[in-house]
Amino acid sequence: MKSMRALTHCTIIHGHASIPPEPDMTILIGEDGNILNVGKTNELPPHADCEVINLGGKFVMPGLINAHVHLFSDGKPMQLSVGENLLNAGVKLLGTGLGKRILIKRMRKNAETALQSGVTTMRSVGEFFYQDVKLRDLIQNGKAQGPRLMVSGFFLSVTGGHGAPFLALEGDSPWEGRKNVRKNVRGGVDWIKICTTGGVTDAKALGEAGRLQMTEDEVTAICDEAHKIGLMVAAHAESPEGVRVALRGGVDTIEHGAAMDAETISLFKNNPRSLRGYSSLIPTLQAGYPTALLDRDLTNVSDTVYGNACLIYEHMLKGFRQALEHGITIGIGTDAAMSYVTHYNLWRELDHMIRFAGITTMKAIDLVTRSNAEILGLGDDRGTIDRGKKADLLVLEQNPLENIRALADPYQVMLNGAFVEKRTVRKIPEVDLLLDRI
Ligand SMILES: [Zn+2]
Repeated sequence: MKSMRALTHCTIIHGHASIPPEPDMTILIGEDGNILNVGKTNELPPHADCEVINLGGKFVMPGLINAHVHLFSDGKPMQLSVGENLLNAGVKLLGTGLGKRILIKRMRKNAETALQSGVTTMRSVGEFFYQDVKLRDLIQNGKAQGPRLMVSGFFLSVTGGHGAPFLALEGDSPWEGRKNVRKNVRGGVDWIKICTTGGVTDAKALGEAGRLQMTEDEVTAICDEAHKIGLMVAAHAESPEGVRVALRGGVDTIEHGAAMDAETISLFKNNPRSLRGYSSLIPTLQAGYPTALLDRDLTNVSDTVYGNACLIYEHMLKGFRQALEHGITIGIGTDAAMSYVTHYNLWRELDHMIRFAGITTMKAIDLVTRSNAEILGLGDDRGTIDRGKKADLLVLEQNPLENIRALADPYQVMLNGAFVEKRTVRKIPEVDLLLDRI
């Protein structure tokens, strides 16, 4: 078998919003899975020991990066599948040996679904019992199919806070926060995920989803502990106060987000306590818009869930628009595993941003490839089609710049220079039918 590959005659969408698509291009890929060269097909003859793959009429772009997922669930609406008591009992069961086996099987399936749908890198921000660490290593060792995975283990929350007690390590002082960072580090994580506010999934009253739960002192200690060993910190924050406390404490990414004021805008751009001097925003519009925008006869949610989802969605959208306006670094995540957020629908996040926040398709593609790679600290070897980077690529039959839905079903996915073996993605038709109405 030939060790190098040449993808010829394709139109390249580079990943950088300022570079227009280039037709009739060749991408040379080396034995190590890295891009050796990129150029016009007529100027870049393939080496003799190259496998030549003619992609005439096809579009090639960098693999998608999803910066915010959970792998423990597939996105089937919780209120349609199980009641709360059953859910709690189920979560308790996950801690047993049998439970962990069931859990990792589901997580593997979800990771595979994401990869088959074009996601070549994924950051998972909150899972049970370090099964995310286990899955990351299985994928790295070629024992499971899935994207390059970055994981954060348990949430860090306050007692009774978001995700507690099952999904979070609880702590109520700066030192307890440091200890919980150390526990997750011992567990093998790549990132630390904290919760400065409540969330829609566990709020018992209207307005509680965004209620502040952590203090600035606690956030500062956690960030200091993580940063000194080079780990970045992501903060679940669903209100202006939650965002403020997280940024003041030095977190590197704000998840979901909220409307900003002059202080938070300036802290995003220049954050002395963050690892790299700035913080980024990862809005996850899909975590809010289905429940907020669909008719309640269709979603069947309680007044509290509906009210909180509307509030959070409005805030996320406002924060996203402000971030665009003020040149804040923005990434894209979906919050897959939440109700209506599947592992194969990353394209819908881009579609929603294009239609509801008015960004260009080119910008959306930039955010989900180049910008996400930068934010995750992977910018040197992922996120664009450039010499020296990993060949994590999507081959598409249609031009995504004309219709973003072209991303929904990639013709082929390449990971580390090798085409991914195609497997059928099991979709959830009732979810897609509803989302198509928005
Ligand atoms: Zn989440």
